[in-house]
Order: sequence, then C-alpha cells, then structure tokens
Amino acid sequence: MNANPTTTPDREQVHSTESVRTARERSTVLEQQITADPSRFRVLTGERPTGALHLGHLIATLDNRVRLQAQGVEIFLIVADYQVITDRDVAGDLPAVVREVLLDYLAAGIDPEATTIFTHSAVPALNQLLLPFLSLVTVSELERNPTVKAETAAAEKRGRRGMSGLMFTYPVHQAADILFCHANLVPVGQDQLPHLEISRTIARRFNNRHAADQPYFPEPDALIVPTPTILGNDGAKMSKSAGNALEIRASEDDTVRFVKRAKTDSERHITYEPDRRPEIANLLTIGAHFARTTPEALAEEVGAAGAGRLKQVVTEALVEGLRPMRARRAEAAERGPEYLRAILARGNQRANEIANRTLEDVLKLMQMRY
Ligand code: ATP
Ligand code: MG
Repeated sequence: MNANPTTTPDREQVHSTESVRTARERSTVLEQQITADPSRFRVLTGERPTGALHLGHLIATLDNRVRLQAQGVEIFLIVADYQVITDRDVAGDLPAVVREVLLDYLAAGIDPEATTIFTHSAVPALNQLLLPFLSLVTVSELERNPTVKAETAAAEKRGRRGMSGLMFTYPVHQAADILFCHANLVPVGQDQLPHLEISRTIARRFNNRHAADQPYFPEPDALIVPTPTILGNDGAKMSKSAGNALEIRASEDDTVRFVKRAKTDSERHITYEPDRRPEIANLLTIGAHFARTTPEALAEEVGAAGAGRLKQVVTEALVEGLRPMRARRAEAAERGPEYLRAILARGNQRANEIANRTLEDVLKLMQMRY
C-alpha cells in the first residue's frame, strides 16, 4: 500500500531476487484468480493526505486501483491522516487537503459507491488493534523495516530531531489498516515487498497465539504492480513537496507547460534507456501510459523525429488522458463540500461497522470479554 510515510527508499531496497521472483509468480496467479472470481478479494490501499495528488500517484497507483475496481474487486481506500503526523509537528490545513485528495480519487475514476473511502481518525476500533498487534512484534523487527531504517538514518543525518514513536510503529499501524477489514490483497511496487512483511507476520502470529483452531486473519498477499518512478520537470522524483509535480487537478495550460519544461538530452534519436537517459525515459513512460502502449514502442515510433516530436506526442496523450479526469473533478467540486463530506461519512460508517466487529472478535479470542 502507499500510506507509508514519505522517505521510502524505494529503489534502494535490498532483498533477494528469489523472493521477488516468488512474489511475481504469485502475483501472476493472483491476477488470474481476480479475473476468475473478483469476489474472493478485498484490497486495502491508500495514502497520507499531505497534498493534492499528482501524475506519479496516478500512474503508479490510482489507475491500477480503478482497474481493480472495474474488475469487481472490493477496495478499501484509506486516507491515512494519523500518518501525516509521523514526521511533522502539525498536519497543516487537513480538511482542505483531504477534500483535494477526495476530488483526485473521484477524478481518477474511483467510484465511492463501489469503493469504501475512509480516514484513520474516524475509525477508533482500527486504531485500538494497534495494542494487541504491538505485542506481536519485537523492537528489532521494527528497526529492520525499510522505512523505519531510512527514517532512522535521515533523523541521524538531520541531527535535529529523532524519529517519532508513531513513525517507529507505523508498520504495525499499517497492519491494523489492512487486517481490520480482513483485506487479503495489497497492491505494491516490487520494491515495497518488505513493507508488507510485518502485516503478514502479525496476522500469522495472532492466529498462532489466539486462534490456533481456526485462523482469524488472512495473511495478506502482495499484488505486484508496475510502479515506475515518475520524475518532475526538474528531473528529480516527482513529489508533492518538491514543487516539481504536475497535479491531477492541473489545467490544460499547466499540462502543456509541464511537458514543455521537462528536461531532455542532447541526443536526437529517441530510445528508451531509463538508466542512461532518465528524462527521455520519463517522458516515454508518461506518454505510453496515456497512449496505452509501452515506452519501448513509443520510442520506436518517435525514433529519429527527436525530442520535439516526443514532447508533442506526450502532450497530446496527456491532455487527452487528463481531460475526462478534469471534467469529473469539476463535476464533483461543483456539488460542494457537503457531497464530499457525505462520501467520507458513508465510508467511515462502513469502516466502523467492520472495525467494531473485528475488534470484538479479537477481544473475544484474546479472552478479554468478561
Ligand atoms: P511527499 O512530498 O509528501 O513525500 P509524495 O509526492 O512523495 O509526497 P507520497 O505520499 O510520499 O507522495 O507517496 C505515496 C505513494 O505514491 C508512494 O509510495 C508511491 O507509490 C507513489 N508515488 C509518489 N510519488 C511518485 C512518483 N514520483 N512516481 C511514482 N510513484 C509515486
Ligand atoms: Mg514521498
């Protein structure tokens, strides 16, 4: 899932090619099972409301959620507001940010009738699961989590302030997000595989300790989805906080300008070589995503026509692709804040019903009902 905090060192994770291969093979099987019977699956995914969503989110996560939704998979979409304060003192204007994120979801094609959209803070029973779950992991296991490790390193480098306890325990919070609704499928990029391990461990240990006769929590599976890192128009990773993003809510003029300003290189012939030519590869990835082709095929198509032509093709595909999203966004915004509030209220109510039931079951299994 993507509700993990900011500094995920996605591309730097070290894990065996063996486990990646196993997970990939498993994902292929899962995709077949989804096609055959989507009702077997429940997906948990979401993100922190730290700003309006951008092209990186759209390409790496949102479009895949919309695909799963269209296939008939039930999705729980968490707006992880408690995770906003893992690494900052104040959350800023959260109500405004949450509204923007909701509009981005609707713009991308999330259907609030089919998908349950909810916030951490409105589901107390979800958060209470943290207590039993914390008893199931050790401090050293938490220290080994990739995000926690990266945060520790970053905090040491900054020297300014240490890591918060909320950040340290975020993998356990994530397990609560996933397990409260018995989600059995979590879409992740290949590099995020280790992030799911603690959730799987917690499910397994809970079952062993408290539900030996009949496993209570499913061990959630990772659904590996292609998640290319989208670069901003300064050549660095596109990020809400870097000021280099094309937001989903951007106007058509902004979209055109974004591509115009995107960096290219001095080689004329267009080729797809992500390591050697990251900026060109980025444009190819974006263009191919919206033109529903592959970066390689698009490179082939543009070839000798050069970067000017590439930008033209990407601009057209992007403008075309974002247009219906802009229209849906405007339509939803026109209905006013009450409309958005109602969507969240409905999602929160449904999440609460499920979380209350889960917590009650958990307490019973732990012999804590007197
Ligand atoms: P911030 O600047 O606050 O860190 P961000 O723009 O980096 O925000 P996050 O909320 O940290 O966004 O990211 C959530 C998830 O969105 C990531 O785990 C990743 O899957 C996806 N994502 C974010 N930025 C990109 C990007 N540039 N390319 C691909 N995927 C991205
Ligand atoms: Mg980030």
